[in-house]
Amino acid sequence: MIEVDKLGEVTRIKMGREYQGRVLYWTAAYLVDGLLIDTGCPHTAEELTRFLEGQHLDRAVNTHHHEDHVGANHLLQQRFGIPIMASRQSAPLIGQSSRLLPYQELVWGYPVPTKVGILPGQAETESHRFEVIGTPGHCPDHVALVETSKGWCFTGDLFISREPKAMRPEEDIYEIARSMTKLVDLPSKKLTLFTGLGNVVEDGRKALQSCIEYIRSLSLKAKALERQGLSPGIIVNELFGRESVLAALTDGHISSENVVRALLRHENK
Ligand SMILES: [Zn+2]
Repeated sequence: MIEVDKLGEVTRIKMGREYQGRVLYWTAAYLVDGLLIDTGCPHTAEELTRFLEGQHLDRAVNTHHHEDHVGANHLLQQRFGIPIMASRQSAPLIGQSSRLLPYQELVWGYPVPTKVGILPGQAETESHRFEVIGTPGHCPDHVALVETSKGWCFTGDLFISREPKAMRPEEDIYEIARSMTKLVDLPSKKLTLFTGLGNVVEDGRKALQSCIEYIRSLSLKAKALERQGLSPGIIVNELFGRESVLAALTDGHISSENVVRALLRHENK
Protein backbone atom coordinates (compact mmCIF):
# COMPACT_ATOMS: atom_id res chain seq x y z
CA MET A 1 0.00 0.00 0.00
CA ILE A 2 1.18 3.52 -0.64
CA GLU A 3 -0.14 6.84 0.68
CA VAL A 4 0.88 10.09 -0.97
CA ASP A 5 0.51 13.63 0.29
CA LYS A 6 1.87 17.02 -0.68
CA LEU A 7 3.63 18.97 2.05
CA GLY A 8 4.34 22.22 0.23
CA GLU A 9 7.05 21.47 -2.35
CA VAL A 10 7.78 18.06 -0.83
CA THR A 11 5.73 15.01 -1.77
CA ARG A 12 5.70 12.36 0.93
CA ILE A 13 5.20 8.77 -0.20
CA LYS A 14 4.51 6.38 2.66
CA MET A 15 4.77 2.70 1.80
CA GLY A 16 4.22 -0.58 3.56
CA ARG A 17 3.22 -4.17 2.91
CA GLU A 18 -0.36 -4.91 3.80
CA TYR A 19 -0.82 -8.03 5.86
CA GLN A 20 -4.26 -9.18 7.00
CA GLY A 21 -5.72 -5.76 6.28
CA ARG A 22 -3.10 -3.58 7.94
CA VAL A 23 0.30 -2.17 7.11
CA LEU A 24 3.03 -3.97 9.01
CA TYR A 25 5.57 -1.15 9.07
CA TRP A 26 5.61 2.16 7.25
CA THR A 27 8.63 3.39 5.37
CA ALA A 28 8.83 6.66 3.42
CA ALA A 29 10.34 8.21 0.32
CA TYR A 30 10.20 11.90 -0.55
CA LEU A 31 10.00 13.51 -3.97
CA VAL A 32 11.15 17.08 -4.34
CA ASP A 33 11.93 18.94 -7.55
CA GLY A 34 12.60 15.71 -9.49
CA LEU A 35 14.77 14.15 -6.77
CA LEU A 36 13.49 11.00 -5.05
CA ILE A 37 15.01 10.46 -1.60
CA ASP A 38 14.93 6.70 -0.80
CA THR A 39 12.94 4.15 -2.76
CA GLY A 40 10.99 2.15 -0.15
CA CYS A 41 10.95 -1.61 0.25
CA PRO A 42 10.87 -4.33 -2.44
CA HIS A 43 7.26 -5.31 -1.63
CA THR A 44 6.01 -1.83 -2.64
CA ALA A 45 8.41 -1.24 -5.57
CA GLU A 46 5.73 -1.85 -8.22
CA GLU A 47 3.23 0.53 -6.57
CA LEU A 48 5.85 3.25 -6.12
CA THR A 49 6.93 2.94 -9.74
CA ARG A 50 3.31 3.19 -10.94
CA PHE A 51 2.82 6.38 -8.91
CA LEU A 52 6.03 7.91 -10.25
CA GLU A 53 4.94 7.38 -13.88
CA GLY A 54 3.02 10.66 -13.79
CA GLN A 55 5.61 12.63 -11.83
CA HIS A 56 8.64 14.79 -12.51
CA LEU A 57 11.49 12.40 -11.71
CA ASP A 58 15.13 12.96 -12.68
CA ARG A 59 17.03 10.82 -10.20
CA ALA A 60 17.07 9.11 -6.82
CA VAL A 61 19.29 8.99 -3.77
CA ASN A 62 19.48 6.29 -1.08
CA THR A 63 20.21 7.52 2.47
CA HIS A 64 21.64 4.08 3.35
CA HIS A 65 21.73 0.49 2.13
CA HIS A 66 18.89 -1.06 4.19
CA GLU A 67 16.26 -3.02 2.24
CA ASP A 68 13.45 -0.58 3.12
CA HIS A 69 15.34 2.34 1.52
CA VAL A 70 16.63 0.79 -1.74
CA GLY A 71 13.75 -1.56 -2.57
CA ALA A 72 12.60 0.02 -5.84
CA ASN A 73 16.08 0.88 -7.18
CA HIS A 74 16.11 -1.93 -9.72
CA LEU A 75 12.61 -1.27 -11.02
CA LEU A 76 13.20 2.49 -11.25
CA GLN A 77 16.39 1.95 -13.25
CA GLN A 78 14.60 -0.50 -15.53
CA ARG A 79 11.44 1.55 -16.03
CA PHE A 80 12.84 5.11 -16.15
CA GLY A 81 16.59 4.67 -16.64
CA ILE A 82 17.23 7.28 -13.95
CA PRO A 83 20.57 7.58 -12.17
CA ILE A 84 20.53 6.48 -8.54
CA MET A 85 23.22 7.57 -6.11
CA ALA A 86 24.33 6.71 -2.60
CA SER A 87 27.31 7.30 -0.34
CA ARG A 88 30.71 5.76 -1.11
CA GLN A 89 30.16 3.25 1.73
CA SER A 90 26.56 2.45 0.72
CA ALA A 91 27.20 1.79 -3.00
CA PRO A 92 29.03 -1.57 -2.64
CA LEU A 93 26.45 -2.78 -0.09
CA ILE A 94 23.55 -1.88 -2.41
CA GLY A 95 25.38 -3.71 -5.20
CA GLN A 96 25.49 -7.03 -3.38
CA SER A 97 22.82 -9.48 -2.23
CA SER A 98 21.63 -8.91 1.30
CA ARG A 99 21.02 -11.55 3.94
CA LEU A 100 17.73 -10.94 5.68
CA LEU A 101 16.09 -12.39 8.76
CA PRO A 102 12.64 -14.02 8.28
CA TYR A 103 10.76 -10.96 9.63
CA GLN A 104 12.68 -8.64 7.27
CA GLU A 105 11.78 -10.86 4.32
CA LEU A 106 8.12 -10.84 5.38
CA VAL A 107 7.88 -7.08 6.05
CA TRP A 108 10.18 -5.62 3.38
CA GLY A 109 11.47 -8.36 1.04
CA TYR A 110 14.77 -8.95 -0.73
CA PRO A 111 16.01 -6.02 -2.84
CA VAL A 112 17.57 -6.75 -6.23
CA PRO A 113 21.26 -5.70 -6.00
CA THR A 114 21.76 -2.54 -8.05
CA LYS A 115 24.69 -0.54 -9.31
CA VAL A 116 24.43 3.00 -8.01
CA GLY A 117 26.65 6.07 -8.50
CA ILE A 118 28.67 7.73 -5.76
CA LEU A 119 26.94 10.70 -4.23
CA PRO A 120 29.09 13.85 -4.19
CA GLY A 121 29.00 16.32 -1.28
CA GLN A 122 26.00 18.08 -2.79
CA ALA A 123 22.99 17.04 -4.85
CA GLU A 124 21.50 19.75 -7.06
CA THR A 125 18.06 19.95 -8.63
CA GLU A 126 16.67 22.74 -10.82
CA SER A 127 15.71 24.93 -7.84
CA HIS A 128 17.45 23.44 -4.83
CA ARG A 129 20.81 22.41 -3.47
CA PHE A 130 21.03 19.57 -0.94
CA GLU A 131 24.06 19.14 1.28
CA VAL A 132 24.96 15.48 1.80
CA ILE A 133 25.97 14.99 5.43
CA GLY A 134 27.56 11.81 6.75
CA THR A 135 25.39 10.75 9.71
CA PRO A 136 26.59 7.29 10.83
CA GLY A 137 25.22 5.46 13.87
CA HIS A 138 22.10 3.68 12.61
CA CYS A 139 24.61 2.13 10.20
CA PRO A 140 28.11 3.32 9.17
CA ASP A 141 27.13 4.33 5.59
CA HIS A 142 24.17 6.57 6.52
CA VAL A 143 23.78 10.11 5.10
CA ALA A 144 21.21 12.87 5.60
CA LEU A 145 20.25 15.42 2.92
CA VAL A 146 19.76 19.03 3.94
CA GLU A 147 18.38 21.92 1.91
CA THR A 148 19.75 24.74 4.05
CA SER A 149 17.79 27.68 2.59
CA LYS A 150 14.48 25.85 3.13
CA GLY A 151 15.50 24.15 6.39
CA TRP A 152 14.50 20.71 5.06
CA CYS A 153 16.39 17.80 6.58
CA PHE A 154 15.81 14.29 5.19
CA THR A 155 17.05 12.10 8.03
CA GLY A 156 16.60 8.54 6.71
CA ASP A 157 16.67 6.32 9.81
CA LEU A 158 18.92 8.56 11.94
CA PHE A 159 15.96 10.01 13.84
CA ILE A 160 13.15 7.61 14.78
CA SER A 161 11.68 9.41 17.80
CA ARG A 162 12.70 11.70 20.66
CA GLU A 163 13.00 8.70 22.97
CA PRO A 164 14.06 5.58 21.04
CA LYS A 165 13.48 2.43 23.09
CA ALA A 166 14.55 -0.31 20.67
CA MET A 167 17.28 -0.75 18.08
CA ARG A 168 19.24 -3.24 16.00
CA PRO A 169 22.33 -4.89 17.56
CA GLU A 170 24.80 -3.18 15.21
CA GLU A 171 23.60 0.37 15.91
CA ASP A 172 25.97 2.74 17.72
CA ILE A 173 23.89 4.97 19.97
CA TYR A 174 26.73 7.40 20.75
CA GLU A 175 27.51 7.78 17.04
CA ILE A 176 23.80 8.50 16.50
CA ALA A 177 23.98 11.28 19.13
CA ARG A 178 27.12 12.73 17.47
CA SER A 179 25.43 12.67 14.05
CA MET A 180 22.37 14.41 15.48
CA THR A 181 24.64 17.08 17.00
CA LYS A 182 26.05 17.70 13.50
CA LEU A 183 22.54 18.45 12.25
CA VAL A 184 21.69 20.64 15.26
CA ASP A 185 24.82 22.71 14.53
CA LEU A 186 23.87 23.38 10.89
CA PRO A 187 23.62 27.05 9.95
CA SER A 188 20.05 26.74 8.66
CA LYS A 189 17.63 28.93 10.62
CA LYS A 190 14.89 26.36 10.95
CA LEU A 191 15.10 22.61 10.57
CA THR A 192 12.16 20.42 9.55
CA LEU A 193 12.85 16.70 9.77
CA PHE A 194 11.45 14.32 7.15
CA THR A 195 12.05 10.88 8.65
CA GLY A 196 12.40 7.42 7.15
CA LEU A 197 9.19 6.35 8.87
CA GLY A 198 7.28 9.20 7.23
CA ASN A 199 7.03 11.56 10.20
CA VAL A 200 7.50 15.28 9.61
CA VAL A 201 8.89 17.11 12.64
CA GLU A 202 8.53 20.89 12.41
CA ASP A 203 10.87 21.94 15.22
CA GLY A 204 13.57 19.47 14.21
CA ARG A 205 16.40 21.12 16.09
CA LYS A 206 14.50 20.88 19.38
CA ALA A 207 13.53 17.25 18.69
CA LEU A 208 17.14 16.29 17.93
CA GLN A 209 18.37 18.11 21.05
CA SER A 210 15.87 16.31 23.26
CA CYS A 211 16.89 12.95 21.75
CA ILE A 212 20.58 13.72 22.41
CA GLU A 213 19.72 14.70 26.00
CA TYR A 214 17.66 11.50 26.42
CA ILE A 215 20.60 9.36 25.25
CA ARG A 216 22.95 11.20 27.62
CA SER A 217 20.69 10.69 30.62
CA LEU A 218 19.91 7.05 29.69
CA SER A 219 23.66 6.40 29.43
CA LEU A 220 24.30 7.70 32.95
CA LYS A 221 21.45 5.60 34.37
CA ALA A 222 22.48 2.41 32.51
CA LYS A 223 26.10 2.74 33.66
CA ALA A 224 25.06 3.35 37.27
CA LEU A 225 22.89 0.23 37.19
CA GLU A 226 25.73 -1.78 35.67
CA ARG A 227 28.00 -0.66 38.51
CA GLN A 228 25.42 -2.12 40.91
CA GLY A 229 26.03 -5.47 39.20
CA LEU A 230 22.75 -5.64 37.22
CA SER A 231 22.62 -7.55 33.93
CA PRO A 232 21.49 -5.89 30.65
CA GLY A 233 18.14 -7.75 30.83
CA ILE A 234 17.41 -6.36 34.31
CA ILE A 235 18.60 -2.87 33.27
CA VAL A 236 15.98 -2.98 30.47
CA ASN A 237 13.24 -3.42 33.09
CA GLU A 238 14.69 -0.63 35.26
CA LEU A 239 14.91 1.84 32.35
CA PHE A 240 11.89 0.97 30.21
CA GLY A 241 9.59 -1.11 32.45
CA ARG A 242 9.73 -4.05 30.04
CA GLU A 243 11.25 -5.28 26.80
CA SER A 244 9.87 -3.69 23.60
CA VAL A 245 7.11 -5.60 21.75
CA LEU A 246 9.33 -5.33 18.67
CA ALA A 247 11.74 -7.83 20.26
CA ALA A 248 9.16 -10.62 20.08
CA LEU A 249 8.13 -9.66 16.53
CA THR A 250 11.72 -9.57 15.23
CA ASP A 251 13.25 -12.52 17.11
CA GLY A 252 15.18 -10.05 19.26
CA HIS A 253 16.74 -8.19 16.31
CA ILE A 254 15.10 -4.89 17.29
CA SER A 255 15.06 -4.71 21.07
CA SER A 256 15.48 -2.57 24.18
CA GLU A 257 18.26 -4.90 25.30
CA ASN A 258 20.22 -3.77 22.21
CA VAL A 259 19.78 -0.17 23.40
CA VAL A 260 21.15 -1.08 26.83
CA ARG A 261 24.07 -3.04 25.35
CA ALA A 262 24.88 -0.05 23.08
CA LEU A 263 24.75 2.30 26.08
CA LEU A 264 27.17 0.07 28.03
CA ARG A 265 29.72 -0.04 25.19
CA HIS A 266 32.54 2.46 25.36
CA GLU A 267 31.50 5.89 24.07
CA ASN A 268 34.57 6.63 21.97
CA LYS A 269 35.28 3.38 20.24
ZN1 LIG B 1 17.70 1.60 8.19
